[in-house]
Amino acid sequence: MRNIHTKLPNVSTTIFTVMSKMANDYKAINLSQGFPNFKTDKKLIDLVTIGMQKGHNQYAPMPGLLSLRKVIVEKTNALYNSDYHPETDITITSGATQAIFTIISAFIHPGDEVIIFKPAYDSYEPSIELFGGTIIPIQLSAPSFTIDWKEVASKITSKTKMIIINTPHNPSGTVLSKNDMLQLEALLKNTDIILLSDEVYEHIIFDGQEHQSIARFPGLAERAFITASFGKTFHTTGWKMGYCIAPKDLMTEFRKVHQFNVFCSNHPVQHALAAYLKTPEHYLSLPNFYQEKRDVFLSLIKDSKFSYIPAAGTYFQLLDYTAITDESDVAFAERLTKEHKIASIPVSVFNLNQQDDKVLRFCFAKTEDTLKRAAEILCNI
Ligand code: PMP
Ligand code: GLN
Repeated sequence: MRNIHTKLPNVSTTIFTVMSKMANDYKAINLSQGFPNFKTDKKLIDLVTIGMQKGHNQYAPMPGLLSLRKVIVEKTNALYNSDYHPETDITITSGATQAIFTIISAFIHPGDEVIIFKPAYDSYEPSIELFGGTIIPIQLSAPSFTIDWKEVASKITSKTKMIIINTPHNPSGTVLSKNDMLQLEALLKNTDIILLSDEVYEHIIFDGQEHQSIARFPGLAERAFITASFGKTFHTTGWKMGYCIAPKDLMTEFRKVHQFNVFCSNHPVQHALAAYLKTPEHYLSLPNFYQEKRDVFLSLIKDSKFSYIPAAGTYFQLLDYTAITDESDVAFAERLTKEHKIASIPVSVFNLNQQDDKVLRFCFAKTEDTLKRAAEILCNI
């Protein structure tokens, strides 16, 4: 046996891979891993082809194509009244996951403390651990998942280097309010704490609510990275394209690592995105588009034994199954996939000490036909 001194002793294969594989193996409808099952806009695909045919097939500039950076910064400044600059404050990345990993690797030294909120997207913790950071988890409670900012204040020490927030929130589907952001802003005043604000679902928010980007709050923006994902916004999770935005001094540090991590991201796709983003409708239509899917899904399962609070954002809906069984969420998710042919994500895997609130996460970024077939199964349970 080879003796491997693992850097991640507590990490196994991510739940997204486990559940998607189980869905395939058992021919179940896959509402587990978050990705759309409908087609990507042909216009965007054609733009990538044009980018390749025009010969943009070699390395892109290290921070990303300037025309793409410009259009993103213009969009961000227009939406959130911020003041970012395309030359210095944005880098195009190979998905938000790479941005998150690179931010953590650039700033976290051994012994630095990073506050995260559980349930948390599963890439944060291993990334922190790899660079010797100490994770300070704060468990949020279902079903509201609201943050108690007094509790956060009590966890801040002289070693706190970073706080990671995520709104709209995966997996809970909740969003942070303006009041949350103001409280966070007050809390971080006069500190050197860096904020990582994971906003990959910024355009997937419902019921007329406005996304509270940290870019709207100068006291937060001055210390923060925003991470974003074109996979989520343009139904292209397989392209692994995203970006991050931050003030110049933070971004300079980010690029020191980024250039040796990936150097640059996919070049023809950057040309395509730069052209596609010129039509704001392409992202401003998302709230209605996904709200309709959420509402179709929820109306179809309203007579089932599952209970729920409608998701306020993201394309995930939590369903509480306490009226059905007292099985663990992991066991129930497995049984649903194998016996009932529908795959979901057990939320406990994202919780502190695998706390089991008996809720499963279902992805509704699916065609109406898929949602109907899924709902039929759920109503029979
Ligand atoms: N953060 C959150 C909260 C996510 O749900 C995801 C998954 N899309 C990511 C980051 C990673 O995004 P990407 O696929 O662009 O790496
Ligand atoms: N963000 C997606 C989800 O939450 C999956 C990302 C991944 O598979 N790593 O389901």
